Amino acid sequence: MAKSLKVLFIEDSEADMELTVAELTHGGFLLESQRVETEEELLDALQEGWGLIICDYRMPRFSAEAALAALKHSGRDIPFIIMSGAVQAEDTVNLLKQGAHDFMDKHALARLIPAVERELREAEVRQERRRAEERVRILSRAVEQSPVSVVITDPEGQIEYVNPRFEELSGYSAGEATGRNLGFTLLDQDSASALTELWNTVSTGREWSGEFCSARRDGQLLWEQVSVSPLTDNDGHITHYVVIKEDITVRRSYEEQLLRQAHYDQLTGLANRVLMIDRLNVALEAAQRDGHQCALLVIDLDHFKNVNDSLGHSVGDNLLKESAGRLSGCIRGGDTLVRMGGDEFVVILPRVESAREAQQVAEQIVQQFERPFTIIGKQYRVTASIGIAFFPDDGKNPHLVLRNADLAMYKAKDLGRNQYHFFTEDINRQLIERLELEERLHRALDDNELVLFYQPIYSLEDNTVAGVEALVRWRQPDGSIWLPNRFIPLAEEIGVIQELDNWVLKTALRATAAWLARSQGGIRLALNISSQQLQMPGFNEYVAEQLTANGVSPTQLELEITERMLVDDSEATQHNIRALCDMGVRISIDDFGTGYSSLGYLQDYPFHTLKIDRSFVCNIGVNTNTSQLIETIITMGHGLGMDVVAEGVESDMERQFLRAHGCNQAQGYLFSHPLPLERLRPILNQFSPAAEGVSGAT
Ligand code: C2E
Ligand code: CA
Ligand code: CA
Repeated sequence: MAKSLKVLFIEDSEADMELTVAELTHGGFLLESQRVETEEELLDALQEGWGLIICDYRMPRFSAEAALAALKHSGRDIPFIIMSGAVQAEDTVNLLKQGAHDFMDKHALARLIPAVERELREAEVRQERRRAEERVRILSRAVEQSPVSVVITDPEGQIEYVNPRFEELSGYSAGEATGRNLGFTLLDQDSASALTELWNTVSTGREWSGEFCSARRDGQLLWEQVSVSPLTDNDGHITHYVVIKEDITVRRSYEEQLLRQAHYDQLTGLANRVLMIDRLNVALEAAQRDGHQCALLVIDLDHFKNVNDSLGHSVGDNLLKESAGRLSGCIRGGDTLVRMGGDEFVVILPRVESAREAQQVAEQIVQQFERPFTIIGKQYRVTASIGIAFFPDDGKNPHLVLRNADLAMYKAKDLGRNQYHFFTEDINRQLIERLELEERLHRALDDNELVLFYQPIYSLEDNTVAGVEALVRWRQPDGSIWLPNRFIPLAEEIGVIQELDNWVLKTALRATAAWLARSQGGIRLALNISSQQLQMPGFNEYVAEQLTANGVSPTQLELEITERMLVDDSEATQHNIRALCDMGVRISIDDFGTGYSSLGYLQDYPFHTLKIDRSFVCNIGVNTNTSQLIETIITMGHGLGMDVVAEGVESDMERQFLRAHGCNQAQGYLFSHPLPLERLRPILNQFSPAAEGVSGAT
């Protein structure tokens, strides 16, 4: 088959050219040709592509030498054969040096065809090589300028090449990196195991990709998406590995941030409830599988609310942060510390051999919180109450263990806080009983199960009845009578107390109204008021309503409040106290001397009565300090214009002591137990009972 060929002749003789053309055609080429005989014409013709140039050696207006120079200048690589007659040897060498490919005797063209064929082949090879070189140049430029790190290692993983991006990202220069192992920037154990997996994969000829955390030369962390591909030679042997690394630090840190936000508490940095459930599930699964116990500790700070309310949230936040720090110090690696929210924390001990282990952690925590917190130079004591429950012994699922640890924590609070308590079935039973009790207490008011007893208050001066204190009781279905200590705290907790106190106020006023009227103002009715009641907006109006409805003068009503209510008084409390005082209602300070001994507030209000707590009275004659204290209280009360009443007077010795020291009034078993109104009536009707042993008067 004819091979087409474009031949450019540099030739002054048309005839010579024809001869050559004929020879080539004869040799099987399908020719397209052009003849030029000056440099100008040549340059013009070189605009086109040519497969071969045949150049005359001697021409009147041009030379092979000049033609070669022009060709070289044009940058083209075209097989160049010189046609000549006789040529000097040194000319030949010169021209070959200048780029001529072959010489041909005009008169012996037999060599022409094989020479042309060879030159065409060689030109082809040269061109192929040039293309390959160009490709390599582009490739290496691409690698050099690549926006990702490129590393090439030998089959053993020793670095042979790193690109500039690698140097820039890692901080290591090519010189420092070459010769070292690919993993030399990797950080930790996790990376090490990933690296093993990497080599296992790529050494079998497969590609590997994954994420690695590296340390830069300056120590900063760098997350990289790494892919490694083996390079093989023609026989399929691995000669190199190409490693491409992309910086994904920003993406990773964003992901981590999202993860943190979802799983960690912002304030303390501890795991949050969401992560807790995760970890707990994992721990419980492992415990189930391996047949061991897992412990859960629920930790609640005692009186944290006080700090938060009185010192503000930022102080509270600091305290929580420090608490988190103290708690962290009590656990081991592998344990999980969680902030559940507010001042509640949870510790998961995924594997414990005995209850003792959990107990030790709890003991350590309690101890950590014995140390007061120092906030703005002041010291605050915030202790911890802890409940402990085990999986699977105390609960078969996460929800149950958590609930039971919670109950145990409440038990620890009940028992006086600042301690730990294990969950027991007892606690569960108590809880169920308590829930039933709550339910019954809610109904007690409607079902008329509450009853009022009254205890007279006597004037010590002349033994006349100065008033009565109403004390509530709860009659049980079995006929027994429960004292207030058994249900008032619960009523306060579940919010029934206001309704209860309102009922007492209404009932007591109605029951005693006639008798109060008869006494012509000489006698008062004393009622106990809870702090919640006193905080209720409009309480004063309710009192006024009830007084009017029963026709009782405000001066005959005395409301007993405790010191505590004054210490943490709210605006509503202050308002109620003022409004009640303005109305003429008497206010009495109950249980005086128990705990809060700041007297400032007593001057702030026009209180009428001070009730010395029973705990002082029963020490009369036993403890001289107490006796002195009572004297002081009486003097002070009088100084503030208040009547002083002694509570819980049981012996005549106490009565005489109190009387001798000027105490105005007294109540107690010596005079009378609290009694239902109908049993008290004889006493009330007398108005002046016998001087001694009044209780005998019934
Ligand atoms: P309190 O106001 O200090 O009431 C005096 C308590 O001492 C009464 O107990 C009374 O029975 C008892 N008592 C009186 N004389 C003696 C005595 O000579 N010796 C001894 N050992 N005890 C004596 P009670 O009735 O069990 O009431 C306990 C507390 O319950 C009261 O303490 C009061 O704080 C609260 N409370 C009673 N009724 C009500 C009420 O209607 N509303 C509210 N909010 N609290 C009430
Ligand atoms: Ca009282
Ligand atoms: Ca009292």
